[in-house]
Parts: sequence; C-alpha cells; structure tokens
Amino acid sequence: MTQHIIVRYGEISLKGKNRAEFERILVRNMKQKLAGCKGVRIHHTGGRMMVESDETQVSNVLSRLQNVFGIVSLSPAKVTGLDVDQMSTAVVDTLSDAVKVDHARTFKIEVRRANKRFPMQSLELARVLGGRALQAVSDITVDVHHPDITVFVEVRDQEAMVYGTKVPAVGGMPVGSAGRVGLLLSGGIDSPVAGWLAMKRGAEVEAIHFHSYPFTSERALQKVEDLAQILADWGGRVHMHTVHFTDVQTEIRKHCPDSLGITIMRRMMLRIAEEIGRRRKLLALVTGESLGQVASQTLESMHVINAVTRWPVLRPLVAEDKVDIMRRARQIGTYETSILPYEDCCTLFVPKNPATRPKLAEVEEAERALAVERLVAEAVERTEMKTFTARNGE
Ligand code: ATP
Ligand code: MG
Repeated sequence: MTQHIIVRYGEISLKGKNRAEFERILVRNMKQKLAGCKGVRIHHTGGRMMVESDETQVSNVLSRLQNVFGIVSLSPAKVTGLDVDQMSTAVVDTLSDAVKVDHARTFKIEVRRANKRFPMQSLELARVLGGRALQAVSDITVDVHHPDITVFVEVRDQEAMVYGTKVPAVGGMPVGSAGRVGLLLSGGIDSPVAGWLAMKRGAEVEAIHFHSYPFTSERALQKVEDLAQILADWGGRVHMHTVHFTDVQTEIRKHCPDSLGITIMRRMMLRIAEEIGRRRKLLALVTGESLGQVASQTLESMHVINAVTRWPVLRPLVAEDKVDIMRRARQIGTYETSILPYEDCCTLFVPKNPATRPKLAEVEEAERALAVERLVAEAVERTEMKTFTARNGE
C-alpha cells in the first residue's frame, strides 16, 4: 500500500514572493536526500507538500527527511475518500498503531473541514469517528484535554487525510536558498558546528582548510576531510579547498615576533580565504570563533584580525558556551571525529605567550617583514579542491 507523508516547512512560507523559489530548492534537496528510495514521489499542490512512498519505505523516508534543512515536521498520513467508513478505518488504524507502538491510552479527534460542502459539521464528524474508534480499539478512552494522541482528520475537496503523530525535523532553511559561503574548517570541535549552522540557515558551504604538511600529518588532513564529508551528508555537497599553508607559517615564524604569530597567521588565513572566495563567487566567510574562548578570540584580537577584510565574517558560535557547542557537535555527528588527537596547523605553532590584546599598528608593523601579497597569491595558486557528496545513509 502507498503511504503518504505530510511535509511542513515553517519559515519558508513567510517569504512572500520568494516562496516559489524556496520551495523549488527544498524539493530539489528532498529528491537528492531520497535518491535510491524505491517508489517515492513528491507532490506539491495547494501550498502543501506530500511525499508518497511504499509502505515498507516509510520509516527510511521519514528518517532521511528529518535531516533536510527547511523541513520543520513530518506526519505519516492516510488518504481516504470523502466517506465516513473509509475515514473511520483510517482513524482506527492510526489509533491501533498508537496503542501498540506508543502505548497510548487516551485520544482525541480533531476535524478540520476545509471542504464546506461536506455534509457533516466538524464536531459531528469527530463524534461519529470517535464513537467508532471506541468500539473498534480496545484499551483506549477519550480525553479531550490531555490526550496521549490527537488524531487529525482533514476533510479536503477531493479527499480526506488522517494522521496522528508529528515527527519533528531539523528546521531552518533549505541549503542553497541563501547563497554560498566559505567556511574556515579546522579539525576542531567548533568550525564544523559553525558550518552546520550556516547550512541550517540556507547557505551552501565551501570548506577552506589550511594545512601545514609535513608539520601536520596526512591523518590530520584526513580528519578534516571526514568532517567535510559529514557536512556534505547534511547539506548534499561540500567543496573543500585545501590550502598549503606551510610556507606562510614558516615565514611568520622566521620574521615576526612570537607573541603576534597567531594573530598574523589568522590575518593571513582571512586574506587567503577572501581571495579563494572571490574566485569561487562566495559572499561571506564563516568561522567557528566564540567570544573569549581562547587568546585569539578576544574582541581585541577579532578587531585586529578582521581588519584585513571587508567581507562579512559570520561567527555563528560567537555567543555560545563550549558545552552547548559540544552538545551540538554530538547531535550532528562531528564530535567523535573532531576529538581525534591529530595536530592541526594552529596547535603546532602556538607561542608560550600569545598576545591577548594585540594592537593593530603593532601587527601591521610586524607584517612589513612579510611579502604578504606574494604569499597570498602563492598559497591560493597551490590550493587543491576536492568535492564531497552526501552518502545518504548507504
Ligand atoms: P575549532 O574547534 O573550529 O578549531 P578553536 O576553538 O580551536 O576552533 P581556533 O583554533 O582559535 O579555535 O580557530 C578559530 C577559527 O579559525 C576556527 O573555528 C576556524 O574557523 C578557523 N581555523 C583555525 N584553524 C584553521 C585551519 N587550520 N584551517 C581552516 N580554518 C581554521
Ligand atoms: Mg582549532
């Protein structure tokens, strides 16, 4: 038998004339996520999104769609004719499942009658369907105030729809609806979470990673690629740009004061990321910085680091506590990879006394010892791109 799933997408519906475009992107992303599921069709009519699926596939389809950005909730639904007997069978089935699976003991029926030509009033229909359910399903009673389950019956022009549970989904906006950003992706806990949050608001993310081979190992790079893959599983696809950063770091070490090393390194990262962004037609950069977390993330540091670019630098985690970031990392599946021990290029050159309040003039003075433009151009030239696409649970 064919099952139907109602797809609800909250915020998109607020977007006025952009709505059609948003819906188009959402449908595209859903199709991508459902690739390989047999007999699945997406319907989109009358402001309502429905997925039709083979009964055996329903739980698979549900769990995939739960992770599509833009979807707020889902309900498996039964579609019947405009006929009380058919509706009643669907109500009884839905309730029997709720008793068996969720151990529901009390229920309520809520009828919405969009089709005003249907001969019964909402309350009357609810009473009739409720009466039949009480006869057919044992171990369940009516409770209109605090029911374990509410069964919704929507009477529409051509058909009726019956559903019980609402399965929550990830929410946000469909990936691709908000333009493309460059995520400065390290192997740490924070930046993958920052990238995920940018995706959740509809941004398509391209990862930019600074790698200092041979000071950092192949395994350190593999770890970041694994993180990019996990982000691709969420967002459909992630291009990752790996920047060979060794020369830049070596030059900084050689020519700049130790205490300013981290600040200057970050400034170089932003310059290079901006140039990659320009070539890739990105619109903003995203980092995993969180205010006050480490020496390079004080406001004074951010001020000096940010001074090299006029691009928007988005910091989705700026006000988040570490424990909350860690919880989110576990939820999205990046935590276990992030905590693997391999060094990234920053931990490697950490000075004993990094400046927590660097002065812009002082940093600019120290940078005169570097051939900034040449270093940026060479690093960009030697950047390699790799593309990760969603594995969709296969
Ligand atoms: P994360 O857990 O994201 O590494 P962190 O708390 O370790 O963050 P820092 O090491 O100070 O913080 O890095 C701050 C931000 O700079 C990171 O969130 C990331 O966006 C960027 N960054 C740091 N190192 C790299 C790198 N090797 N490649 C790309 N981006 C980096
Ligand atoms: Mg880090």
